[in-house]
Amino acid sequence: MSVTAVGAAAAALTGGNRRMTDTEAIEAYENLSIHELGRRAHARTLELHPERYRTYVIDRNINYSNVCTAKCIFCNFKADPGDTDAYILSFDQIGRKIEELIDIGGTQILMQGGLVPDERDPHGHGLPFSWYLDLLRFIRDRFPSIHIHAFSPPEIWAFHQVFGMTLEDTIKRLRDAGLATIPGGGGEILVDRIRDKISIGKTRSWEWLAVMREAHRQGMKTSCTMMMGHIETIEERIEHMRLLRDLQDEYGGFTAFIHWPFQPENTPLGRWKRLPVDLPAGAEPHRRPRNDGRHLLLADAHEYLVWLAISRLYFDNIPNLQSSWVTMGPKIGQLALFFGANDMGSVMMEENVVSQAGTTYRLSENEIRRLIADAGWQPQQRDQYYRPISAPKRDRGVGSAAGMPAITASPSAGLVQLEAHGRRIAPDVAR
Ligand code: SF4
Repeated sequence: MSVTAVGAAAAALTGGNRRMTDTEAIEAYENLSIHELGRRAHARTLELHPERYRTYVIDRNINYSNVCTAKCIFCNFKADPGDTDAYILSFDQIGRKIEELIDIGGTQILMQGGLVPDERDPHGHGLPFSWYLDLLRFIRDRFPSIHIHAFSPPEIWAFHQVFGMTLEDTIKRLRDAGLATIPGGGGEILVDRIRDKISIGKTRSWEWLAVMREAHRQGMKTSCTMMMGHIETIEERIEHMRLLRDLQDEYGGFTAFIHWPFQPENTPLGRWKRLPVDLPAGAEPHRRPRNDGRHLLLADAHEYLVWLAISRLYFDNIPNLQSSWVTMGPKIGQLALFFGANDMGSVMMEENVVSQAGTTYRLSENEIRRLIADAGWQPQQRDQYYRPISAPKRDRGVGSAAGMPAITASPSAGLVQLEAHGRRIAPDVAR
């Protein structure tokens, strides 16, 4: 590493709140050790979040349908219209799930599905737009305390296209029916070279951004995400993040950024030719292999933490970064609190959840609280706007996990899969 490069990278990281450039971010990635990046990202996090607590939310993933017209090659959740395992949940089924969530002190649902065709689908697996509005009204009226965080940008773009409404009207009608905030799912990498290869039949980059821009313009809050560690180059990761940061400059609508590594098991993308990750003899310890954009290069825990730190330093206008314990496991999830994350994400409740494949992680609310406490902060439940929920509904002493819900999350498709009764039930964990 040249003295000039070290100086530029260090200056970018120590220059108070001066905005990090794309070049500086790449130089930091290439030249700084994980220790140095972590130290500087943590210092920045302490500036942004001097409070004595670190947060988490209790919510439930509800995937109203797995029917999808897209063909993302990192997904093993979807069903084609007409497939025998295609499903659409009834309002009663969704209502029962919310009742169970409320019973354990949950405050919100993350509700997403595939890109479902309209009601003319010849297999009977289509839905009219009125179904979505009726669903939102049903939840709002039956469960007024529950925050509805739902419909990722690809779903909303599909509503706009399939039902022939303007984007402005589509979002307005969803809001009027009860939609509160929008999850950042379906972003993957916002570079069309990549989307053309892995997100076939799904939103282009500008379309994903257009949904978020319109939602922010209407005053809604959303999250944003990145799925890394597949065929993207470092420059493309930065391009993705620059697009998010630029959009955030317009309305400030993103509450949080969440990134996670692609999980290759049982996916077509997982069978792509891989780049070796071995370091050449004599290479500096922090030197990382670079993807040429044509091969699969998975991201391990080291890469996840390095990129978390760079994200904290790069996003000077997005307040919250989440730990991705679901994909990284509890210990790396806890370590993330020292690499830029200020939030442990979600205790995602699902019933009788059993993993089928891949690495599995189980965490109860008390276990999340214990991880936060052991890292030196007070555990604090929050709402979707990252506001503390001040009155616990019951004793949540971190020493006892008895009676608390547990989930099993199997990161098997780049989108975290949750499984119940031996079958996959969740496409997106994107918050
Ligand atoms: S990731 Fe989402 S949009 Fe893509 S195929 Fe799976 S369900 Fe459909």
